[in-house]
Amino acid sequence: MGVGPISPDYKSGALTAELWRHRVVLCFVPFIFLYKPCSLVESMFVDVHCHITDPLFNADRDSIIRLAASKGLIIVNAGEDIESDALSLELQSKYENVKACIGLHPNAIVKKRKEEIERDLAFMDSEAKHSFAISEVGLDYKGKSLDQINLEKQILIKIFEMAEKDRKPVIIHTRKAMEDMLGILSSFKIKAILHNFEGNSSQCQRACDMGLGISVSTGFLKFKKDSIIRKIRNDLIFTETDSPALSPNDQRNTPLNVIPLIEYISRIRGQNFQQTKELIYSNFLRMFYD
Ligand SMILES: [Zn+2]
Repeated sequence: MGVGPISPDYKSGALTAELWRHRVVLCFVPFIFLYKPCSLVESMFVDVHCHITDPLFNADRDSIIRLAASKGLIIVNAGEDIESDALSLELQSKYENVKACIGLHPNAIVKKRKEEIERDLAFMDSEAKHSFAISEVGLDYKGKSLDQINLEKQILIKIFEMAEKDRKPVIIHTRKAMEDMLGILSSFKIKAILHNFEGNSSQCQRACDMGLGISVSTGFLKFKKDSIIRKIRNDLIFTETDSPALSPNDQRNTPLNVIPLIEYISRIRGQNFQQTKELIYSNFLRMFYD
């Protein structure tokens, strides 16, 4: 996949050669497992949740995106407010391997005035058609008052209604709020991935039963959440860095760390590296292109 400008067709949402290639690939995915190790598809690495728009990447954002492209790595960038959403869309128009999500982070909501929240939601509503998915949105109860929690829930419901209307997948942040999140999601018909999954084993099982994607982050490398990695259903596992956050070491995290993460997941799940890479890529295609 190159890094040149994308075609105008892509912006208008029409099926492009890339999308058709993904559809063809999906037809072959069952054969990957029947005829391994002979792979019929060129799978890609996927960082399904990161913040390449973060100011910590201001000095070298373009070179990181180009390096990721050279390694066949797709960057699904999550916006957090109107400014990062706009930059996310700009990067998507410039680089084929960047997919722009637009969102309103729960921690941003509680810092904003009512008019600012309404402005950000209106921007999301008008730009959703140009976005790849909706993110970062969710619930974060850490250190929040009851009023703030209620505001987060109220806004999240509006965003889920928007995603349902626009048929956009949602990549979700959940901190200390898993029960409420699963409860709210159960009343919507949306495709969703729980990013940096922080639930326990039974919540992981329930999320899988609901068909929710479960994203393993580079933070799992540090915190050794091996039992969760083993528990995720094959067709629902995703990989992410949440970079620049959730570094597996003391350095700034980057989307490139998806590669050692896949190595780690392979070892824990008893699959080889290529099988794991292909599995996660096929899940990505099904989630976002079906
Ligand atoms: Zn994030």
